[in-house]
Amino acid sequence: MQSDKTSVESLRPLWLLAELTYSCPLQCPYCSNPIRLGERSRELSTEDWLRVLAEARKLGAVQLGLSGGEPLLRKDLEIIVGEARRLGYYTNLLTSGMGMDEGRISALKEAGLDHIQVSFQADDPDLNNRLAGTDSHRHKMEVARLVKAYGYPMVLNVVMHRHNLDRMREILDMALALEADYVELANTQYYGWALANRDYLLPTRDQLQRAEAVAHDYQARYGDRMKIYFVVPDYFEGKPKPCMNGWGRIFLSVAPDGTALPCHAAADLPGLELPSVRDHSLEWIWQKSPDFNQFRGESWMQQPCSTCDERASCFGGCRCQAYLLTGEAAAADPACSKSPSHEVILQAVEHAAGLHCAPEPIMRNRRNVSRALQNEAPVRVRVECAPDSG
Ligand code: SF4
Ligand code: SF4
Repeated sequence: MQSDKTSVESLRPLWLLAELTYSCPLQCPYCSNPIRLGERSRELSTEDWLRVLAEARKLGAVQLGLSGGEPLLRKDLEIIVGEARRLGYYTNLLTSGMGMDEGRISALKEAGLDHIQVSFQADDPDLNNRLAGTDSHRHKMEVARLVKAYGYPMVLNVVMHRHNLDRMREILDMALALEADYVELANTQYYGWALANRDYLLPTRDQLQRAEAVAHDYQARYGDRMKIYFVVPDYFEGKPKPCMNGWGRIFLSVAPDGTALPCHAAADLPGLELPSVRDHSLEWIWQKSPDFNQFRGESWMQQPCSTCDERASCFGGCRCQAYLLTGEAAAADPACSKSPSHEVILQAVEHAAGLHCAPEPIMRNRRNVSRALQNEAPVRVRVECAPDSG
């Protein structure tokens, strides 16, 4: 069921995302890791990762993202980075900063690491620490300074939502003070923990518009010093995002246990067996596995996507979001205003905006993971306020 216009052989996994571990000292309620983390805790060995890097490079991978969880928790990170450098990858460490110190950054530099992106929850220490479930803000500030001191471009990432959008100005001032070169203001994507916490996280349209105006103001005033990326989230745009630039087109993710995924949220999709790098070569996974071919091209599309003028640029949107919100993985992404299910997005936005009580977050922590594994599902997408609350 591959592309109608593109042969599988011509597709290259240009971007390899190595999710080295799901362990993380933080507990962000918007984490995109799966809720049933424990089921995927058997991590690949160093040798397995080195083989994966070599196989992906042979298939044409050039960019390597090292993420998690917190990738710094892997003691062999420097070995993995060193091998990636030897193979010719451009390496990008995506970190919360926890586990970084001067010895570690110096060793990573020595190993050839190209790029470090440090995530913050907010500029305000109390808010940052509350959202992270961990006292981490002071350490993140130190790590940001180390990144600069070691000659890396300073890349800050802040996941945006109802609880920090009103602090856009302060967040950008912090980025300027840290001499950031790039700031990614990544609006929350509603998968994994973020979907469970959707009513806690969804902003109002007014909040988004105010934040966007501030981002544009800072872009105009400081754009020569710092690049600011702020994209209005798909829930509010009526347009689906071209998820992963199309299923199995340029992106390949490997989970800590070796499961290979065309998108890091795809573990939620039903009917996929999801091949493991423990059992198959990456070449077979990328070119031959039924799961990677399932949503390639256009032949899987239904109406309205199958005849839509925009299908070559949006690829029908996100398969995971389509399944999570409509129950059908091949449906149009309901974020699209042309989707017959678009109403579920409008209702979610309206419901969250109308809540007169403040939902408590479900933190990504051991207690909630073990509740999920025992099917006491912490999965709570919709919050109902008691009549007398708020
Ligand atoms: S989003 Fe937060 S909890 Fe999830 S991996 Fe990143 S730092 Fe850890
Ligand atoms: S109808 Fe389908 S192909 Fe067209 S814009 Fe919406 S999601 Fe994309």
